[in-house]
Amino acid sequence: MEKIRMTTPLVEMDGDEMTRILWKMIKEELILPFVELKTEYYDLGLPNRDATGDQVTMDAALANKKYGVAVKCATITPNAQRMDEYKLHEMWKSPNGTIRAVLDGTVFRSPIMIDCIKPSVRSWKKPITIARHAYGDMYKATEFRVPGPGRAELRFTGANGETMSAEVYDFECGGVLQAQYNKDSSIENFARSCFEFALGAKQDLWFGAKDTISKKYDHTFKDIFQKIYDAEYKEKFEAAGITYFYSLIDDIVARVIRSEGGFIWACKNYDGDVMSDMVSTAFGSLAMMTSVLVSPDGKYEYEAAHGTVTRHYYRWLKGETTSTNPVATIFAWSGALRKRGELDGLAELAAFGDKLEQATLQTLNEVIMTKDLCALAEGITPAAVDSEAFIKAIAQRLAALLAA
Ligand code: NAP
Ligand code: MG
Repeated sequence: MEKIRMTTPLVEMDGDEMTRILWKMIKEELILPFVELKTEYYDLGLPNRDATGDQVTMDAALANKKYGVAVKCATITPNAQRMDEYKLHEMWKSPNGTIRAVLDGTVFRSPIMIDCIKPSVRSWKKPITIARHAYGDMYKATEFRVPGPGRAELRFTGANGETMSAEVYDFECGGVLQAQYNKDSSIENFARSCFEFALGAKQDLWFGAKDTISKKYDHTFKDIFQKIYDAEYKEKFEAAGITYFYSLIDDIVARVIRSEGGFIWACKNYDGDVMSDMVSTAFGSLAMMTSVLVSPDGKYEYEAAHGTVTRHYYRWLKGETTSTNPVATIFAWSGALRKRGELDGLAELAAFGDKLEQATLQTLNEVIMTKDLCALAEGITPAAVDSEAFIKAIAQRLAALLAA
């Protein structure tokens, strides 16, 4: 069989620990036999980040910006314990943070659903994708404890010297104080990333904030979304048969629980932090969550939502085989290759992305799965296989789908 052709290289970002082992297996068994793979390879494994003074992460992010589509393996974010373990020169920043800052994008997380794992919420039939605005608000706030009685005020000095101020509270005792901010430019980027992603996925977009209480702050989010929707996306949404829906965050939460799923839920930073954990847990497993970073100008970085699965890696180092779930990492590859195919007008490459996902789901629905999923499966007696056997089972089905 002739291999599927590519034109533009995919930016490949390798990573750490167990996911690095899975990465190699996925490439060898599921990609290289079928695709004339063209990648620009960046080794984001911690030893190489340390050796390059983290330059490799910046180079990879810039390549992502240049070529448009990247696929990334999970990476270690160093902490004190990793400094010792890897004898690091510095406690390098999170690679995801660096890439996100370069692309100025939004992260979309979606669950992969299979027949035998039922979401905890009975009405959910289709995936719910959460888009979290990963900038500002509480995460960049200035706060302190108020030691005792006194007046707190909020003050702004314009570049032209003009000032605005307001009393926050006249404290009669100790307490707490916090100031948050966000930027129009960041909210606009967030809105555009969400509209772009919804169009690509052909799914409705929901957004909720607390504009009734927060008449300036949250209301600005609502207004910016509406302005960009009306000016740039209304016609495109109507043509695609999808809708944009804004409501109060409380109302959105209630509707999400009653819904069937199958939409994108845009969340402010804190809502996204909290709700993405709720949604992913209710859908079953972190090992079945994909994640894609989308920039407002349409650049994409695909990855699994989970980490490097350290505990499994230590067992693997001791020579044990592990039953680590590669599904989310496989879907990172399929998503990236499909997007590359779409952008380059390569129908065969885009179809390969679909077939790789189909083969994976087929394998799971035939109850061949890794140990983590066996524990969640209902109404069947699954056979737990190790990662390698699982990937080989997918490869067989993929070859059959491609030959058909
Ligand atoms: P983790 O790697 O996601 O693993 C936490 C636990 O969840 C695992 O020990 C395992 O449970 C289970 N799990 C996660 N993914 C699985 C999979 N694919 N198959 C089977 N089980 C899976 O999170 P962590 O242990 O908190 O973090 C490990 C490292 O990953 C850290 O250095 C962190 O910095 C990094 N990290 C990277 C990213 C990223 O690159 N996007 C994201 C998060 C964390 P059992 O051990 O019970 O089987
Ligand atoms: Mg969280």
